[in-house]
Amino acid sequence: MSGNKSRFQAISQITDRQKQPPKTPNRLEELWATDVFTLSKMQACLPKDVFKSIKNTVQTGGKLDVSVAGIVAVAMKDWAISKGALYYAHVFYPMTNITAEKHDGFVSVQGDGSVITEFTSKVLVQGEPDGSSFPNGGIRNTSAARGYTAWDVTSPAYVMETDNGVTLCIPTVFISWTGEALDKKTPLLRSNAAMNGAATRLLKLLGHTDIATVNSSCGPEQEYFLVDSHFAHSRPDLLLTGRTLFGRPSAKGQQFDDHYFGAIPERVQVFMQDVEEKMYRLGIPAKTRHNEVAPGQFEIAPVFEAANVASDHQQMTMTILKNMAKKHGFMCLLHEKPFAGINGSGKHVNWSVGNATQGNLLDPGDTPHANLQFLLFCGAVIRGVHKYGPLLRAVVATASNDHRLGANEAPPAIISVYLGSQLEDVFEQIKKGDVKDSTHAGMMSLGVATLPEFQKDPGDRNRTSPFAFTGNRFEFRAVGSNQSVSGPLVAMNTILTDSLTWVADKLEAELAKGSNLSDAAFTVLKEVMEQHSAVIFGGNGYSPEWHKMAVEERGLLNLPTTADALPVLKEPYIEELFERTGVLTPKELESRFEVYAEQYIQTIEMEAKLVISLAKTRIYPAAFRYLSELSGSIANLQAIGIEMEKESAEKAASLTKLMMDAVSKLSAALDKHDFGTIEEHMQYAAKTLRPMMDKVREYADALEGEVADDLWPLPKYQEMLFVK
Ligand code: ADP
Ligand code: MG
Repeated sequence: MSGNKSRFQAISQITDRQKQPPKTPNRLEELWATDVFTLSKMQACLPKDVFKSIKNTVQTGGKLDVSVAGIVAVAMKDWAISKGALYYAHVFYPMTNITAEKHDGFVSVQGDGSVITEFTSKVLVQGEPDGSSFPNGGIRNTSAARGYTAWDVTSPAYVMETDNGVTLCIPTVFISWTGEALDKKTPLLRSNAAMNGAATRLLKLLGHTDIATVNSSCGPEQEYFLVDSHFAHSRPDLLLTGRTLFGRPSAKGQQFDDHYFGAIPERVQVFMQDVEEKMYRLGIPAKTRHNEVAPGQFEIAPVFEAANVASDHQQMTMTILKNMAKKHGFMCLLHEKPFAGINGSGKHVNWSVGNATQGNLLDPGDTPHANLQFLLFCGAVIRGVHKYGPLLRAVVATASNDHRLGANEAPPAIISVYLGSQLEDVFEQIKKGDVKDSTHAGMMSLGVATLPEFQKDPGDRNRTSPFAFTGNRFEFRAVGSNQSVSGPLVAMNTILTDSLTWVADKLEAELAKGSNLSDAAFTVLKEVMEQHSAVIFGGNGYSPEWHKMAVEERGLLNLPTTADALPVLKEPYIEELFERTGVLTPKELESRFEVYAEQYIQTIEMEAKLVISLAKTRIYPAAFRYLSELSGSIANLQAIGIEMEKESAEKAASLTKLMMDAVSKLSAALDKHDFGTIEEHMQYAAKTLRPMMDKVREYADALEGEVADDLWPLPKYQEMLFVK
């Protein structure tokens, strides 16, 4: 159904809706990881040596001993079948932000027509999905071959239940037959390994002898909107693009701040509890839930985990949110900007690195030695963010995130680091060179005393910074709500690898000159600050003064759109970074650029087409009906001698004309296909198509304020945001 009727029907369906039947909550211990083939479940059913081998791979990232796979496969299958599974799926993460699955049955028909279940080591370890439709940026066109999935032992297998069946899910990497990464997991695993190598080297230089594998950790905070599905289904723009392409701001928006951290609406809380139950069963440690700033906007965050597992869990969380929303009569919007004029959604990616022997390496310690180590790791991050800031911008560049970044609700498109006043002060002193004998009140004396306890209090938070130190981790805030966290994690791990290597090289050289460790570290940190302190900024990142200062005085790049940011991936220094660290080959990096650039263009063109069709087939007819009603009445009244003002008819008529003119211009602009390069095409989408779409919207939204409410064909903002 379309048109105005659907709006009114939606409202009555929502107000008359049946509540979900009540259910008794389960105890956490009963729920926790019941759907996961955990290490402890493996321990219970695997021979000791097989278990030891698997555990070693999981905990140290060591190579998998393939000879044990057969035994694991049988145990995994038995466990899955005991949960009711008939099928298994290799789950992988192609270069889109989605999760992909290839399902196969355990069924094996015997010669006599009977059936048994079968799951061999071969199918556990490797799969061959016919993934020819997944984007590959030219990698597979040239090598003309299939993609392969390969078991990632470090992320546990699990079962996914639907209402009438169960599937065993096996996390995998997705690679071409020549071994090139076609997915988001492979580079993440490689970046962890590279970072482990560089961090271990530095830890050795710092005198450690017992050093466990260093891994990165991630705690992603996910923001999302819920809209009643009756409204969502009457909005083709929400269904197809995840955002409203039209819509006049409602009189009430978020100006009263009455939603942020307010009481969660009951219907939403029931939904959240079902989401959390599902997450717990899948071993995902859901931890916080609350209302966000915008009406209809919420947040969920788990406890942080090893980055690879956290990334898989984040993908599962997005899937669970969307599916559970459907069951509760909602549509879950993960788009970064579903509603114009209302805060958008992001994903804060909290990130740190550490291991079992030295702990969190970004946590200031309470011994002088630990502090020294912390400052070196933190200094390495600062250097990395300065040197490769444009890369961090590029990995959060998507058509949808462009709506949010720099829009006074999210970090600007300029990447800077926020350290907090206290730590910033420490680094400033290091730069000045007076820290060694510092008598500064409460200030450390490097290598002699300990750093004072760092404020971890939210009072010292800066919400306007894209990259903020928050006590024992960095929080990358520019990531889009819709995005996989892998790309940002890969970038952070890789730039840290590069910086740790640089720090280790310098430190080694200083030590070779006969410096003691503390002096050597001080020299290295001073150099970091001399070269890279321009990236440190504690002020208001939203202010125009900063945007000017960042670019003009600090030499930082402001890359406002994806069209500006993505080409960074083609810069020689970025290519060298990924090649040197072994995270991505030049060919793999190039393919990523191609895929993301295509996605950007396709998204905007698809939206432009929908703008045209909605304007023509919904808004124009509604405006016209209104105009004929109005003009008819005015004429009738005139006939009996009553003069009515014609202003509103004139205004609606003129807006309708202007809107249709803008539609024609956009249509014509979409016909252009002769672009010299993909970069040119992206610029065209950003600088020509998008403003033209905005023009159509401007007139349409103005019309929404003129046309009789009962004729308006699309659910309005006030309905979608406030009717629950
Ligand atoms: P806030 O909204 O104040 O930023 P939240 O509690 O909503 O904080 O989210 C913080 C996230 O950071 C959580 O997922 C948490 O587990 C995660 N986190 C905490 N410590 C670390 C760490 N050392 N490394 C990575 N993530 C961390
Ligand atoms: Mg946060």
